[in-house]
Amino acid sequence: MNEKTYVFGHKNPDTDSICSSMVEEILDHKNGWNQVEARRLGNINKETQYVLDYLGLEAPKLLEKVEEGQEVLLVDHNEFSQSVEGIENAKILGVTDHHRIADFKTEAPLYYTAKPYGCTSTILFEEFKICGQPVEKTEAMLMLSAIISDTLLLKSPTTTEYDKKALAELAKIAEIDANIYGIEMLKAGTDLDDFSEEELINLDAKKSEKGNKKFVIAQVNTVSIEDVLNRKEGIEKAIWKEIENNNLQLFIFAITDILNSNTQIIALGEDTAVVEKGFEKKLEDNMAFLEGVVSRKKQILPIVDKNM
Ligand code: MG
Ligand code: MG
Ligand code: MG
Repeated sequence: MNEKTYVFGHKNPDTDSICSSMVEEILDHKNGWNQVEARRLGNINKETQYVLDYLGLEAPKLLEKVEEGQEVLLVDHNEFSQSVEGIENAKILGVTDHHRIADFKTEAPLYYTAKPYGCTSTILFEEFKICGQPVEKTEAMLMLSAIISDTLLLKSPTTTEYDKKALAELAKIAEIDANIYGIEMLKAGTDLDDFSEEELINLDAKKSEKGNKKFVIAQVNTVSIEDVLNRKEGIEKAIWKEIENNNLQLFIFAITDILNSNTQIIALGEDTAVVEKGFEKKLEDNMAFLEGVVSRKKQILPIVDKNM
């Protein structure tokens, strides 16, 4: 039996999933729980790579699946459809998360910390305080990067007072200007040129299920929606392939303009009526422009889920 306890975030990991895994490992080690090791469930995106390079840190190792009985800790997700292969038979010791709780079930009691904050790292920052552990520069930078990423520098409607306070305190510890660093970090994530259309639609894709229906909402950040739409034809082809291969009823590709806080969506599949009804918009060329929408979790998923 593997003696390690793996901590990881969701598939198609974002900065919060990677940084919060690394931070939880640091905190658990400080607490004497030394067998905890961070893992990742997919490729590191460019935004997260910027953070790791800035800090001179290696990414956690890739975890492709877990054996029955493997001890795990989840951060930044709880839905099994977004987790590692084999999660149904793993031993989940704890979850630290800021998402809805869906289709989640364990056999044994566990630590479960859920708060509706803008970022998992904001919860972890509180955990340091609860445990009486000092926050050093490295973990301060990891946590503040995750907060900037998830809240788009505190501009997303998912942002809470807790995130704002945490970011300010962490920036002080890290001795950094969060705005200057944050813009550079977010911009690093908008460089989409080297990705194929297939990669583009999977960079930050989240699968959900409702009854017997399956849908995916994928999101990319950009500073120019137009640039991304130049590849619309290829993107749509890749989406149709994904729909066929995975028997999806709906695929939404959300292109989010991080400077102006708007989102253009491309919606394909047999259930696109769900999108038209939910957002009260007719799709034109399979697209709709959603003003003021930046958060999948708060402004897209609930509407789609409700109307599915
Ligand atoms: Mg995430
Ligand atoms: Mg998150
Ligand atoms: Mg996200």
